[in-house]
Amino acid sequence: MFKITLFGYPNVGKSSLFNRLIGQKDAIISETSGTTRDVKRQIIEVNGVKIQITDTGGVDSAGEIFEQVSKASINEARLSDLVLFMVDGKNYPSLEEKRLFLSVAKQAKVCALVVNKIDNSKQKQELHEFLTLGIRPIFNISCSHNLGIEDLEDWCYALAKAKKPDEFESINLENENEIKVAIIGKPNVGKSSILNALTKTNRSVVSAISGTTIDPVDESIDYKNAKIKFVDTAGIRRRSKVLGLERLALLRTKKILKEAHIALLILDSSDEFGQLDETIAGLASDMGLGLIIVANKLDLSEFSANEIEKQIRHKFKFLEYAPIITTSAATKKRTAKILDLILKVQESYAYRIPTARLNELIQNALKRHALPSYKTKKVKIFYATQFDVMPPRISLVCNYPNGVHFSFVRYLKNQIREHFEFLGTPIVLVLKNKNERLEDD
Ligand code: GDP
Repeated sequence: MFKITLFGYPNVGKSSLFNRLIGQKDAIISETSGTTRDVKRQIIEVNGVKIQITDTGGVDSAGEIFEQVSKASINEARLSDLVLFMVDGKNYPSLEEKRLFLSVAKQAKVCALVVNKIDNSKQKQELHEFLTLGIRPIFNISCSHNLGIEDLEDWCYALAKAKKPDEFESINLENENEIKVAIIGKPNVGKSSILNALTKTNRSVVSAISGTTIDPVDESIDYKNAKIKFVDTAGIRRRSKVLGLERLALLRTKKILKEAHIALLILDSSDEFGQLDETIAGLASDMGLGLIIVANKLDLSEFSANEIEKQIRHKFKFLEYAPIITTSAATKKRTAKILDLILKVQESYAYRIPTARLNELIQNALKRHALPSYKTKKVKIFYATQFDVMPPRISLVCNYPNGVHFSFVRYLKNQIREHFEFLGTPIVLVLKNKNERLEDD
């Protein structure tokens, strides 16, 4: 029997999801009570496959979480085929939640993150916060509004049907040395041609994830000791001529950005850069991904490579951190260089600044430019720590977090960039009060 376990803090919506998963099914086979008082189990049958769903109610956020999580619960994860770790999309996960998540994820054969309470598009934009948990896939759902649940169900049931651990592995994208790359851009800019150029000259392995609703196909290549995986290349090659192409392009972009570390934003340099280019670029930057701009079709452009770069810098000011490479997929000019750039950006994207060096840098920056005072109060930054990578997230602990103007934050970011390039990498600076708990404490 295929076993699914729901994990998460109280109030994230586990029971609601549990009820939804079993609710509409006619064939509830049995109900067994779990070992702990509030573990709920049901067995359902979907398309002839028996599935046991367990809701481990027992994780409590009060007190020491690790004492609260009984060994039995963790064991539950080990014995499951699939663990759905559920978080509340309205709250950024705490350090404890992250730790719990990691300990559970380690035990699980396959793990997916389910972000609940995503009721509107604004909340969706904030989803990239959850990417830092490092787990894919992520499903955003709203139990109360019944949104996204079908996708999640389809995926679970497809897994249950496949039920061979080897097949799961391609879905659980846990290989830490793998660089996942999304090739994005509006239709006809040359995404498919670039992909061909990159995979043809390197041995490429295609892995289809069968049974899912969208049938994505990933293509991987080995390059200089790294494994680069281009995600959902089926979507690139499946060029549809139907109306609503732009909408499709946006939907696909959103979907694959969630899977990727680095985006290759392909632009057509023989054409004017338009609104759709900008929208797609905006998605990549909102999601906090590593980013490389590929200005393709150089052979068809009336402008020189330098001129094109200038135009892009002017048009996409918000992508100032992204390197630009001008290419021609038709003549293969510079396409091979894209791979080296991917390796470089990944290195920056995953880089962690040693705390001592970071603090030295911040203190020197403060000496050069004193922090302006806030409502007559002197603002002080006590220390800085980088508490996350991919993308790098740095917290600055100070006495008045609201008193640090965004232009000063920008100044600090620029200082960081001057010392640690962070090529193609967005930097997130978080201001914290001295009394707030640091996420890496
Ligand atoms: P996609 O929709 O973004 O995947 O775009 P395609 O890769 O299918 O390319 C669209 C069209 O542009 C095709 O006819 C390609 O042959 C052509 N194309 C792609 N890149 C280049 C390029 O660098 N130069 C020229 N001249 N044509 C290109």
